Amino acid sequence: MDQLLPKPRGKLSEKRALNDLTWLRVGGPADYLFQPADIEDLQHFMKELPADVVIFPMGVGSNLIVRDGGLRAVVIRLGRGFNGISVEGNTVTAGAAALDAHVARKAADAGVDLTFLRTIPGSIGGAVRMNAGCYGSYTADVLRKATIVTRQGEVLDLTPEDLNFRYRQSDLPDGAVLISATFEGSSGDPEELHARMAAQLQKRDETQPTKDRSAGSTFRNPAGFSSTGRADDVHDLKAWKVIDDAGMRGASLGGAQMSPKHSNFLINTGTATAADLEGLGEEVRKKVYETSGITLEWEIMRIGDPLKE
Ligand SMILES: Cc1cc2nc3c(=O)[nH]c(=O)nc-3n(C[C@H](O)[C@H](O)[C@H](O)COP(=O)(O)OP(=O)(O)OC[C@H]3O[C@@H](n4cnc5c(N)ncnc54)[C@H](O)[C@@H]3O)c2cc1C
Repeated sequence: MDQLLPKPRGKLSEKRALNDLTWLRVGGPADYLFQPADIEDLQHFMKELPADVVIFPMGVGSNLIVRDGGLRAVVIRLGRGFNGISVEGNTVTAGAAALDAHVARKAADAGVDLTFLRTIPGSIGGAVRMNAGCYGSYTADVLRKATIVTRQGEVLDLTPEDLNFRYRQSDLPDGAVLISATFEGSSGDPEELHARMAAQLQKRDETQPTKDRSAGSTFRNPAGFSSTGRADDVHDLKAWKVIDDAGMRGASLGGAQMSPKHSNFLINTGTATAADLEGLGEEVRKKVYETSGITLEWEIMRIGDPLKE
């Protein structure tokens, strides 16, 4: 395929392993990894890329299991050139490669409340695509505009309506790459906003295995909602509870384990393969179904091919 690929100014690597680009540190090679130099480079590459080549835009891999056989696609990962953050009044515009935590901090410095992004370890591209949220706030609540490069290489602005946000999901045109997003947060006192973020970080450290390699919540809560922290959240059937009831807290397979600290966190204890992680997740789903009749749905995205025998 390489003869057919456009020659970009950015970095194009063939058969690039993806394990070091995901939080779980697993995953086989992508056919190609493309790190565009800037928007024009990305546009040119997308325009010239044969229409049948699959592209997969990747953030910082905090919600992904890439299978051990890798991805038959060109993975596009944005870096420098796509991570600017600017604040004007209560409007914050961030490049898709900017980390959620950086955006939250910079917004707080300027007295804008995007504090919920502080403890989510992804990038803005991933936050928009996944409608990331916690502590009662979601990306959908604050997003005003998202800018993409279409599969044909055109720059296009999308409205929140275009994105059709749902629980941990939004719609993007096929093959599109998000390049930036504009948010509007409410006003707050910078000191109070920073104090709230510090408290939320502490709460995470107390209740979740934040020092381990994970991809966050493994399964959706059975009611289809995450624990929002809202007083009116009556969806109290939690994934961690049904996993506990099935006796799977701490269960392991190869190097994969359901965290003893939080049973809905699947962790790589150091030697896990993607097959270990996915296999353990499937075993948990089976045991939960047997004990409670509930079918757990994956929240972590699983992509790519298993290793061939
Ligand atoms: C410890 C831990 C805690 C977590 N807690 C939370 C939480 O509280 N709330 C929550 O919502 N999530 C949480 N997550 C999950 C994860 O951080 C979020 O889903 C995050 O938004 C994913 O962002 P990412 O950049 O890592 O995206 P990736 O995992 O790389 O990709 C996720 C999806 O986004 C798409 N995507 C990424 N960038 C782009 C782009 N530029 N253009 C188009 N598509 C793109 C990918 O194609 C893929 O479909 C947690 C994860 C961990 C490890």
